[in-house]
Amino acid sequence: HLAVAGEEIWGLAAYSHIVSRANLLDLAQESDGRRKHGETLSILDGIPVSIKENIAVRDVSLTAGSRILGRGMKDHPPCGYDADVVRKLLRESGAIMMGTTTMDEFGMGSLGMNMPTTPAKNPLPYMRNLTPNDLTSLSDDEVDLFFAKLIKSSQDEILEIHSKAFDESLPVHSTGGSSSGSAVSVTHGSALLSLGTDTGGSVRLPAAWCGIVGLKPSYGVLSRHGIVSYASSFDTVGVLAPSVECASIALDILGERDEAGSRDSTASQLQFQLKDFDEKQAAASERPLEGVKVGIPASLSIEECPDEIREAWMKAANFLSQRGATVMELSTDELSVDLVQLSLATYYILVSAEASSNLSRYDGFRYGVAATRDDASSESFHLDATDLERQYAATRTEGFGIEVSRRVLCGASVLSSDRFHSHYEAAAKLRAALASQMHSSLKEKVDVLLYPTALSAPPRIDQGEIDSTETFANDVMTVPASLAGLPAISIPVAPKDDGRFPLALQLVGYRHGEATILNAARVLQ
Ligand code: GLN
Repeated sequence: HLAVAGEEIWGLAAYSHIVSRANLLDLAQESDGRRKHGETLSILDGIPVSIKENIAVRDVSLTAGSRILGRGMKDHPPCGYDADVVRKLLRESGAIMMGTTTMDEFGMGSLGMNMPTTPAKNPLPYMRNLTPNDLTSLSDDEVDLFFAKLIKSSQDEILEIHSKAFDESLPVHSTGGSSSGSAVSVTHGSALLSLGTDTGGSVRLPAAWCGIVGLKPSYGVLSRHGIVSYASSFDTVGVLAPSVECASIALDILGERDEAGSRDSTASQLQFQLKDFDEKQAAASERPLEGVKVGIPASLSIEECPDEIREAWMKAANFLSQRGATVMELSTDELSVDLVQLSLATYYILVSAEASSNLSRYDGFRYGVAATRDDASSESFHLDATDLERQYAATRTEGFGIEVSRRVLCGASVLSSDRFHSHYEAAAKLRAALASQMHSSLKEKVDVLLYPTALSAPPRIDQGEIDSTETFANDVMTVPASLAGLPAISIPVAPKDDGRFPLALQLVGYRHGEATILNAARVLQ
């Protein structure tokens, strides 16, 4: 119900598809019935969630935010199957989907602006004193009451509540991307959890700029079955949530191993398990992080990091040390400045190469919506080589947005015989070197790394064009963990009630070290 409010009243453009009120009520009643009979499917039964539109949900079309996959087209058919993570979340655990969320086309972007429709708006300035934490601090009974009220109140009542808060004269800030709608839906509270994808930061950056928690597990922990590919060796399903607790509940459910075997051949064969975290014991203990080694990587302490963020970073490090952790600097010998400085370029070369290959399937014949021919009727239409080329070109020109076309062209270029060695292979080597340094630091020296998620507040998006290469710079802190396939969680660390945007730090762990980063994050949040 709030999802309807989210889209139409807040005007935040969080959702690309919203479930009908009737459908929502049916699902809520079914869940209620299960609860009454003691047959609750999981702790998420009846909880409203949202899902990024590049993740397959059987009765919704799978568009990845692209016109070539039918985004914005009326009556585009539903995709007919569920991604593994969707099956687990909705069908097996009883979560209720409010809708699918808007995103940068194919996941390519950091600001949530590369889409054929209106970009999502950062909800924080509109929300005034209402913070996501208001929901998480409620007792179970209060949460029940809150949702009972939402489901019962009329559209008009909701409209009234929200129109009071929505002030159209406020400047518009980015939500962060590419999981922009997911972040908005969780921030304004129409979903208590959202599935996003993180290839180079797309869960962590929007979470940081919207003041919520964003978790990217290790590469391969969650199945990629049913996810529209962007750069397959980086693509990771992640979770956006109001709290660390909520993100870890989701990970526990989504990470359960499929008995029949995963339908993602790159999925990790390990049974994923979060070690029990005893919340009460941790709260009672003065030093819950005793024995945990936290590294502050000197090579990520870059000049461009504003003082305010640096202060929050050091304050958090101090706090972790008071809570028992051993905090130490990771020197530039252990994690090289050069590799870190090159990581943005390395990332963009590799993801563009993978994207150009992955997106070659959208030709309007095998996949994708074909451009309509205006020069021949179907009866007289004989394809010769030129026609075919022209048809491909028309389909891809019409279907892809400008940023996607740019990546495809860059990718084709770095894979061409001229540049393969100098660009693609060089980047692949740099990736391996960075991954190896991060792996060994995290194996031999520390358990988690602590550093900022973003180096700036969300930029305004209502003041004209933003340069694409400038946009890439927003990913400088998020891509290292993606290049190395490591788990990372972004958490808001500074209060957001003084009218400023929140600051966020991330904790990065060793491969399959999700439990360790979650435990440290719980202490920090
Ligand atoms: N901004 C990065 C890119 O455009 C990250 C995107 C993502 O994680 N999907 O590639």
